[in-house]
Amino acid sequence: MIKIEFGEQEEKIKELHLAYYRQYIEPKINQAIDEPNISFWKDKDCTKECKKLVDQHRTFLKYVSQHICNFAIGSVEELDELKRCIEADYFPRCEEAQQNDKELYVKVKEKKQTYIHYLQQLFGYEEFKTKSFYEVVKSAAIAKRAKEKQEKNSNTDITELKKETYNSDVYEEMIKILYESFPHKQEIFDSFPPKKSYLKNGEFEKVFQMLGNLDITYLNLHEHLAVFGGRWNPYYFVLLSGIRVCPYCNAQYITPILSPTGKMRADLDHFYPKGQYPYFSMSLFNLIPVCKSCNSSLKGEKELSSKVHPYKASVNDLFSFRVHLQTQQLQILQHHEVVRDYLELFKIEATASYHAGQVEELLFKQRAYPKSYLKELAAQTRTTVRYVKTQAIGYVQDEKSLNDSTFAKLRRDVAKQLNFIEPIDDDTKAKLRKLAKQLGHE
Ligand SMILES: [Zn+2]
Repeated sequence: MIKIEFGEQEEKIKELHLAYYRQYIEPKINQAIDEPNISFWKDKDCTKECKKLVDQHRTFLKYVSQHICNFAIGSVEELDELKRCIEADYFPRCEEAQQNDKELYVKVKEKKQTYIHYLQQLFGYEEFKTKSFYEVVKSAAIAKRAKEKQEKNSNTDITELKKETYNSDVYEEMIKILYESFPHKQEIFDSFPPKKSYLKNGEFEKVFQMLGNLDITYLNLHEHLAVFGGRWNPYYFVLLSGIRVCPYCNAQYITPILSPTGKMRADLDHFYPKGQYPYFSMSLFNLIPVCKSCNSSLKGEKELSSKVHPYKASVNDLFSFRVHLQTQQLQILQHHEVVRDYLELFKIEATASYHAGQVEELLFKQRAYPKSYLKELAAQTRTTVRYVKTQAIGYVQDEKSLNDSTFAKLRRDVAKQLNFIEPIDDDTKAKLRKLAKQLGHE
């Protein structure tokens, strides 16, 4: 688990996420306080309990409304505080329901999925999670048209306009957006069928595939922002975050390259699973860009301690890889119990062992690059021995760069074991002690 840092993009990401939350989620929550949709609780013979549940539900939503900013962009600590309050006062998880209220307990438990599902819809992750790049451009076009219509006539209901589905005007608007964002692809847009030759939604989507790879990466993103029409979405988020490697496994690239079909490598994992914490399903610091294996195959709905939350802590120095020099077998030394679940859940040792070539290469380089030779190379290239080591042996020493390449943590640990990296100094030791203290495991 490697700490995610958005760096200079953090304020921008928070600003865009909060604006989205206020525009699309807050009104739904406020509306649900006035008109709670509780059809799944309308049970003929439980009027009293039903009323109690509805009251609890509305009180909970009022709490959300009062703390909307924290739900949207609160830090991990703030989310933990919300979680604690919710579980204590508003929305106890079924297993924690009062034993002396057995009837209510049974009814809530039976309906758990339905209520969770309702909350998931209310917090709107499914709407945020636009299916493809085609859908991104389409909703940008619809939003742009809605805004223009409202500017012409202020009585126009913008929410009704946003519900507008595909038609030839939207098609024309999409072409305009594409022209603006990708002038060098003009030839392809010119070959698109003209506005008047009516195409069905699916047919236009097929034409859209003709764009080829649009090659948007976070390096050139600023040139193509118009393509999002100002609308915040997962593609925009992953591109702005600049994360290159999965922070969970450090073994897969999640380089965000946006193809026209909208297929990209990063998934968004909910650190606090949305099946158990639907109210955090759209909280920025609960959304972790990760690889598909970690998200779907390994983590799923499992919950980890917030002490290893990748927006809060790096657990890199709380475990280390070590290679047995004779057998070349890799093993993990666990320095703190806080990382145990994480290591097991993401099969860190097994994944690393599967890539034994990484270790073999470092062991070979230990023989191939004696100190005298490294010094010689540094003199020849007019650089430092440290620089030559990182380049020739191939590892990163800086904690913040561990998210830039795959197996960076594994390579750094083995390089340290093989004495390529100097022993730890007192400053770093002090920092480690501080980290351990923060994690509550001094
Ligand atoms: Zn991963």
